[in-house]
Amino acid sequence: MADEKKTAAAQLPEQEHKTVDPEESWRSLEAKIKSGSIAMDMDRVRAAYEYAAAAHASQKRRDGSPYVTHCLATAEIIVEQGLDEDSVVAALLHDVIEDTPATHEDVKKLFGSTVADIVEGVTKLTRVQWTSHEEEQAENLRKMLMAMAKDIRVILIKIADRLHNMRTMDYQSQEKQLIKSAETMEIYAPIAHRLGMQKIKWELEDRSLYYLDREGYKEITDALSSRMDTLTAFMDKVEKQIQQRMDEEGIKATVYGRIKHIYSIYRKMFAQQLDINGIFDLCAFRVIVDSIPDCYNALGMIHDMYKPVPGRFKDYVSTPKPNGYQSVHTTVIGSEGIPFEVQIRTWDMHLTAEYGVAAHWKYKSGEQGVKEGDEEKFAWVRRLLEAQQETDATEFVHDLKIDMFADEVFVFTPSGDVINLPAGATPIDFAYAIHSGVGNSMVGASVNGRIVTFDHVLQNGDIVEVRTSKSAPGPSRDWLQLAKSSSARTKIKQWFKRERREENIQCGRDMFEAELRRNGLSMADVMDEDVLPAILKKLSVPSMDELYAAIGYGGQTAVRSVNRVKDELSHLKKPEKRTVLDKINEQAEKRVARPQKAVHGILVEGLDNCLIKFSKCCTPVPGDDIVGFITRGSGVSIHRTDCQNYLRQRMSGEGDGRWIHVSWAEKTTDLYITTLHILAKERSGLIMDIATVLNALNAKVRGLTARDVGNDQSTAVVTVEVRDLDELRAIMNRIGAIRGVIEVRRASS
Ligand code: MN
Repeated sequence: MADEKKTAAAQLPEQEHKTVDPEESWRSLEAKIKSGSIAMDMDRVRAAYEYAAAAHASQKRRDGSPYVTHCLATAEIIVEQGLDEDSVVAALLHDVIEDTPATHEDVKKLFGSTVADIVEGVTKLTRVQWTSHEEEQAENLRKMLMAMAKDIRVILIKIADRLHNMRTMDYQSQEKQLIKSAETMEIYAPIAHRLGMQKIKWELEDRSLYYLDREGYKEITDALSSRMDTLTAFMDKVEKQIQQRMDEEGIKATVYGRIKHIYSIYRKMFAQQLDINGIFDLCAFRVIVDSIPDCYNALGMIHDMYKPVPGRFKDYVSTPKPNGYQSVHTTVIGSEGIPFEVQIRTWDMHLTAEYGVAAHWKYKSGEQGVKEGDEEKFAWVRRLLEAQQETDATEFVHDLKIDMFADEVFVFTPSGDVINLPAGATPIDFAYAIHSGVGNSMVGASVNGRIVTFDHVLQNGDIVEVRTSKSAPGPSRDWLQLAKSSSARTKIKQWFKRERREENIQCGRDMFEAELRRNGLSMADVMDEDVLPAILKKLSVPSMDELYAAIGYGGQTAVRSVNRVKDELSHLKKPEKRTVLDKINEQAEKRVARPQKAVHGILVEGLDNCLIKFSKCCTPVPGDDIVGFITRGSGVSIHRTDCQNYLRQRMSGEGDGRWIHVSWAEKTTDLYITTLHILAKERSGLIMDIATVLNALNAKVRGLTARDVGNDQSTAVVTVEVRDLDELRAIMNRIGAIRGVIEVRRASS
């Protein structure tokens, strides 16, 4: 622990700035393997090193070192992660297929198919290009890398490779530094996080930040350096306090403080817009104990020693994070009033937190054998185990595959976007995933530059291109079988329904019209606005198109439909109790004779001189889209078409047949009363400010009330008379600009 504690963040990341001698690197690797717990055949490892050295003989790193030093360094990181011999051999060979004439066959012959497959997997990942900076694309790319790596060791070696490249990034051009750092931040650090490899994740983030925002980075490291004495003294003191208390209570615990990693401080500064002086919890403490009950005992003691900050306690022991992380977190306030975080965990949890999936693996292949409860740490590992009950530890390592994304496949568009499709997807799924228009006009597809048939099954990493044509015939019915994604199938079905619908409507209309003519009727008799709603109701269809579609489809006959229309028309003409609707019909007959007259600036279709009321719920003004409602006995009330009452009734069908078309007369000199609701932060003088604005705009105010609604907020209701919507909008804008006003809205909208 001592090394971590004393690793002052301010000194990280140190760049490796020397030409490296391969033999020296080899000795370092050899020593690390020998001091580890995993026995390896050193002759085989040496053979891999010599093979890589020979294959890369003509290449040099940017620092002047022979290229193989990078392979040795990558292998050393792999050893530090506690991985097995095949992983170390593969790490030494990880660039030979990509960068030298060596082939999969060559590697297989010399080092076996496991190593050859891993090296080939790393090569594939290396070839994936990171182009987009969008969050969603980054997530897809991360998933894709995970899915492409059929063996988890591929990902672990790729991460080790990236880590060493970041450690030697100073030698690259500035452009490359930025691209690689952004890629590391967006793709590799999150993957390390997902695999639970905290330590590597932190280093990747800090090293990337160094290139991405050097000034921000320096600001933090400088600030940390200048505070190092204080911080160290503070950490020593708290460590001692906690350790002493644990000893007194008989809990075996290892306690240490550490400075948080630079990127986490950076993020905090950015998120909270603070400079470093505003961030108090620069350090955090760990208490590592032997058992889960001790975690909670230790927590109780710490809460007894220091004042806990409310809301900061998190129990990832009873509810582990998805990546398997377990710990109890709490933030407390020390005697100096400085808050700090304490993480409490067992040694098991600690190893998982530091090494993630690799730690898990260590248990599996190490001398300790399979530990009970290990499977719980990674759901996907557990699923794998369930499928392979008989597997022993060695075989388990061999078959350790990521099946997290087994049912997904990730492919590229020609411009480098990653598209996520279900496994088994074809170019049809791809085309519809881009856009239904692309799918509907697709005439051909190619994968990785080669023309393929529509039933071609796409593989991870494929670059898919679709050819479209305006004169494409559209999808064919067998596409429904070839498409794997439900969204593609839905879009294809929609196309058929829509295409068929248009044909059906056309054909149904012709049949309906012919039948009408046979009965001495015309389309105009039916489409008359005064009778159409009643006819639609009688026929139980929402629109005439629906009727035509049904006739065309054969679900309804033209003869039956026209008979019903005839019924309804004669029924409508029968004089019975005179309703407002009857009046409208009467007036409608006369309306051709004379121009309509507006009442209060409102024209009611087919009705003159009727009583007009403006609804109180939505207070429409000229310029609003409106609709009329025939009230029982008190004329027509006018609502906005976005009025909640109107929309609710339309939805429920209540009041059907009583909603009628109304419109604003072109010229009106009337004033209209309307109501505004204002939500504002409570403050003195608010009402005065609103009144002042209204006065300045010459608005005719009919009422102004306000009240507090708690939460330090108040509402105000303003009733004003305006000429039209433009005037109202001007008022709303000005009120909205008053200090403290959160929202200005009209009634019922
Ligand atoms: Mn490499």
